[in-house]
Amino acid sequence: MKKAIFLDRDGTLNPDPGYISDPNNFELFPDVGNALSKLQKAGYLLILITNQSGISRGLITLNQLEAVHTKLKKLLLQDAVKLDAIYYCPHHPNHPYEGITNCNCRKPEPGLILKAITDFDIDVASSYMIGDRSSDIKIAQRTSVTPILIGKSLISGFENVATYETLSAAAEAILSKARW
Ligand SMILES: [Mg+2]
Repeated sequence: MKKAIFLDRDGTLNPDPGYISDPNNFELFPDVGNALSKLQKAGYLLILITNQSGISRGLITLNQLEAVHTKLKKLLLQDAVKLDAIYYCPHHPNHPYEGITNCNCRKPEPGLILKAITDFDIDVASSYMIGDRSSDIKIAQRTSVTPILIGKSLISGFENVATYETLSAAAEAILSKARW
């Protein structure tokens, strides 16, 4: 079995202006490539888990999402980082997409991580979900991976979740097993 880092995208890897449809508006936070490089070298799969309801809302086309992810991959390659997979949810409860409103893949629903666990034979006990919102913590808890929050402050109700200001700091903690 393999160990994995599940990664939220917006607000975790990149600044989040909301519904990014143009690759020119997509940039990584400083040091993200370096942090992911260290995790990848330590043997973790790197798997993106992202809600992209802009698709169902009609604000982003699939081609645009693909172009943004091509930019993401290109930026990560500067640090020789290669994502192992990208899983996204296009749905939203108020915006039917291909007839679906109540999906099981919009975080905090567990669908995307459950699919990745099956696809890659992942050991949840040695895996982490890193994100910036309560939905990221909840999907971690529902799939039995360890949640890590990126942000300047704790989220109410989740004060016991490990919180770091940057992805770099979170990566260092994982690699040093500071808390685990
Ligand atoms: Mg986020």
